Amino acid sequence: MLRVACILLGGLLTLAACSKVPPPAAKARVIVLGFDGMDPALAEQGMSDGTLPHFAQLAKSGHYQRLGTTNPPQSPVAWASFATGANPGMHGIFDFLRRDATNYAPDFSIASSTPPQHVVHLFGWALPLDSASVRNRRDGEPFWSTAERSGERATVLRVPVTYPPDSVTRMLSGMGVPDLLGTQGTYTIYATRPIAGADNGGRVELVEIGADGTIQAQFNGPAHPLRPAAAALSVPLQLVREGNGARLTLDGQSQILALGTWSPWMHAHFRFAGIGSVAGMVRAYLLEGFPRPLLYISPINIDPSDPAAAISSPSGYAAELAHDIGDFHTLGMPEETWSLNQGHMSEQGWLDSVKTTLAEGEAMLYDAIKRDDSELVVEVFVQTDRVSHMFWRGIDPKHPLYAHASELARGAIPWIYREADRVLGEVQSRLRPGDRLIVLSDHGFASFRRAVHLNRWLAESGYLAFKPGADTSAPLFAQVDWARTRAYALGLNGIYLNEKGREAQGIVDAETIGRLKAEIAARLSALRDEGSTVVTEVFDAASIYHGAHAGDSPDLVVGYAPGYRASWQTTLGGTPAALIEDNLQLWSGDHCIDPAAVPGVLFTSFPMDAPAANIADLAALILRQLSAPAKPST
Ligand SMILES: [Zn+2]
Repeated sequence: MLRVACILLGGLLTLAACSKVPPPAAKARVIVLGFDGMDPALAEQGMSDGTLPHFAQLAKSGHYQRLGTTNPPQSPVAWASFATGANPGMHGIFDFLRRDATNYAPDFSIASSTPPQHVVHLFGWALPLDSASVRNRRDGEPFWSTAERSGERATVLRVPVTYPPDSVTRMLSGMGVPDLLGTQGTYTIYATRPIAGADNGGRVELVEIGADGTIQAQFNGPAHPLRPAAAALSVPLQLVREGNGARLTLDGQSQILALGTWSPWMHAHFRFAGIGSVAGMVRAYLLEGFPRPLLYISPINIDPSDPAAAISSPSGYAAELAHDIGDFHTLGMPEETWSLNQGHMSEQGWLDSVKTTLAEGEAMLYDAIKRDDSELVVEVFVQTDRVSHMFWRGIDPKHPLYAHASELARGAIPWIYREADRVLGEVQSRLRPGDRLIVLSDHGFASFRRAVHLNRWLAESGYLAFKPGADTSAPLFAQVDWARTRAYALGLNGIYLNEKGREAQGIVDAETIGRLKAEIAARLSALRDEGSTVVTEVFDAASIYHGAHAGDSPDLVVGYAPGYRASWQTTLGGTPAALIEDNLQLWSGDHCIDPAAVPGVLFTSFPMDAPAANIADLAALILRQLSAPAKPST
């Protein structure tokens, strides 16, 4: 009605004035809250011992059940099935990593970027004629788009595998959004001495303290957008002693850094050619002070107020949100798990950053609920997953690091579950009568005590062969003799056959594929580690995936027993000497195992109208609730 009035009065009113007319309030809403990795055993324990009162109340007044997850139970796979209601064979996301069959190289599964099609080379400058494109690899229609087609409005916040954003009323992309370097999160450490782990994660910049007692350096940002061969764009960085802390000046702006405290966001403009700049922002953390300072700088987040890539829909929503709630992490996976894992960040500093991302996620959710202009509001909180990955060693007496776990480590998982309960209570207090609430997780959790070098097993079992005299520990299959290799492992759960006609140097004939898969599955299932089962089931992809993308999946999906997981080296095609070894990394919990062992949770504030056994059933459940007549709140 208001829009009609605007059109009729078009000659009298400006368009700007019309656009300020508030949209109609949403009718009864469906609010969907995801807590990534919330485990049913821990949730049920907390509901019965009184530490999760809001979850207990929701289960009592509404509905609670365990929720089946995808195979494999990895977040990008499960959230893609959540969004589309489809089997991975339909949406095409099978693992964090996929492999390029033409060269066996691993590739990020979630989003792909294509360089500009038309480039004019002129005096060493590459001038793009059209912008580079980024594509979400998830296929199929997400339920928020279906809802919008039937006239509902959707606000979708930080759901994994939503980059670039779908065109809905409002969306802020989640897992998949890169940092300004184009990576999934590269941190930087400035150190005056060599530090451990520098070769495996982050950028370590060795610097010297000058005669004036200060550190003067450059902070490197993105590649030159017009001249790929030129040095990366950078801004000046200065660090000066200030009491026990330091004063950091980055791109002309200063912040006092107290020891062991995160700085507010610091903005940097990476200028090029005097004609443009790329906006980024970081937070700094002083790990150690002068005389031997150790300065940590977060990955360079895309600045939501001046985004260098499409991170929201409409494109101005990110800036609007930053204006309303302040700057926030835009990186798809902002919890810097790798820096904690590498010992480049303290446990306290890491948990403090989780508190920040949680507060940001809450602020944007409460803003969306308050706007009251979307019938569907969806947000996923990933902090439950990240804290469980990093601190399972604090709650599992059988984990090899349990005895060394700090007080902080032992309390971290109980803390994040209580935080999830608090967020649930905050959301419940903001609901209107008639609103319906759905809370779910994409999978549960298990301990990660022992790391399995699956390529070593394939080599020892005669399926993977090396070149004579090779250094077999090298990653990316550098030393593999493909002419004698029938199978190889890559990613967190996948085994691929070296299939003739598909792989670049494939040798496995079509007629032997079935027999080979069955043989590997049987032998791997029989593997024992000091008497314990390592793999509970090896799934034949042909029997678990269907759909247009089924042919892109690994050939076998390995369902590890709880306690076991593929080693990090396996994920990138490495083959260390040991077959199975203790996991002595702080990344001590995981869920990339047999899906039967790690179901998620589902709570609803209303009685279920039909069974929802699996996360892929949620899309239909949510769409039914959206179209159901409003009922008084329960
Ligand atoms: Zn996870």
